[in-house]
Amino acid sequence: MVSFEASLRPFAVEALRVFARGRTYLILLYHFLSLPLAIIYFAVLFLCAAIGAITAPIGIGILILIGGLIAARGFSMLERELAIALLGMELPPLAALPSGSPWARIRAHLGRAETWKALAYLMLKLPLGLFVYALAIPVLGPAILGILGLARTALPDRSIAGLFSSLIGAALGVAIVIAVVHGAILLARLWERVAAAMLGPSQDERIVWEAQRRAEAADRKRRELILNVSHELRTPIASIQGHLDSLLMPEAERPANIDPQQYLGVAAAETRRLGALVGELLDLARADASALPMSVRPVDIGPIAHRVALTLAPLAKHERQVTLVDADAEPGVVGLADPDRLTQVLTNLVRNAINHTPAGGAVRLQAGADDATHVFVAVSDTGSGIAAAELPHVFDRFFRTDSARSRDTGGFGLGLSIARDLVEAMGGTITATSELDVGSTFLVRLKRPGG
Ligand code: ADP
Repeated sequence: MVSFEASLRPFAVEALRVFARGRTYLILLYHFLSLPLAIIYFAVLFLCAAIGAITAPIGIGILILIGGLIAARGFSMLERELAIALLGMELPPLAALPSGSPWARIRAHLGRAETWKALAYLMLKLPLGLFVYALAIPVLGPAILGILGLARTALPDRSIAGLFSSLIGAALGVAIVIAVVHGAILLARLWERVAAAMLGPSQDERIVWEAQRRAEAADRKRRELILNVSHELRTPIASIQGHLDSLLMPEAERPANIDPQQYLGVAAAETRRLGALVGELLDLARADASALPMSVRPVDIGPIAHRVALTLAPLAKHERQVTLVDADAEPGVVGLADPDRLTQVLTNLVRNAINHTPAGGAVRLQAGADDATHVFVAVSDTGSGIAAAELPHVFDRFFRTDSARSRDTGGFGLGLSIARDLVEAMGGTITATSELDVGSTFLVRLKRPGG
């Protein structure tokens, strides 16, 4: 049984963790600034409104009211920036005012709901600031005094009883400070909702902004893909070109150590790699367009895993001296999958496992029922493993582990990303666990029919 003390430990760690986050101090700064800023907003806007209203009959009042409007817009812009920088909020930009004469702009500004919402927000800042200060000063003051009291009584020639009571005072002080900081974070999270509703653009503008952001992200991804593909193409093409150029040299000028057969072999192998890359890119493009030909149906996964093991057994045994263990699945383990695509995924996982396992190691393929609603296929190896820092990225496009890059295993870092696309398109999941120099396990989970 977990002791009471042990069950408190994670709670205490969690309570203290906020002090390690930079955001906590930014939030405290936000609260600290709230009252002084609110007083400035209130004073400026109140004065502009009052003086403007009184002097309106003599004309100058209109200019003062306009000045107040401009100040309010400036204040709300400042508040947006503070919410973004200190609270870490994402606020979509406000639509620009239409171009035209100053009067047209002022009329447009006055006609917008956002203008009045922002003004109300500026006024709401005052109660927030007052609330924060009224609560923080009476609570934090004694707490800090309690903590300081310990320092005072810790001096020599103080009594033990005095030191003990100061210790309790200091402990209480620390607990109060922790509680206040958590309260401040909670208040900031609640206030964020107010800020999002009152400082953001209208619902329609927000929808347009989100669509724009999605389009920009897709564009960035496409540019990255082109860059990565070009980068990956460069090495094999340079290698093919180099080898063929050497073979094309007049025989008299060609260095004696060039073996034409070997050079042609390298060029052929690189060409095959390029062909594989094109195949993988096609799969990726189809997955992106949700156009992977896929026919998901109930299939017995044991025989599929078995066939993959049979196909790759020669590679494991003769080329890598690795034992491929195909643990017999219980018959009738039926999952929802496209048999050809599942074969593609398992082939990729088993080939990776074989390639990353040193001679004498073992690769194990296992299929079975996971729970009432899922079946699984696991591919585990006793190979090099993947570092904890790299593990979360192995399914990213073009990601290769450091060791794979330095050994140049020939892959382009697309296999696992395609495997994930395929498994997800079948309604399943794929995960990896690994320990460096111990081995890795890739687990494919598929839904059972009706599960
Ligand atoms: P590639 O086609 O280049 O092998 P993958 O997408 O299949 O790319 O794999 C991504 C990275 O994960 C590669 O760098 C590979 O070295 C590493 N990796 C994949 N499977 C294993 C495994 N079983 N053991 C260790 N590393 C692995």
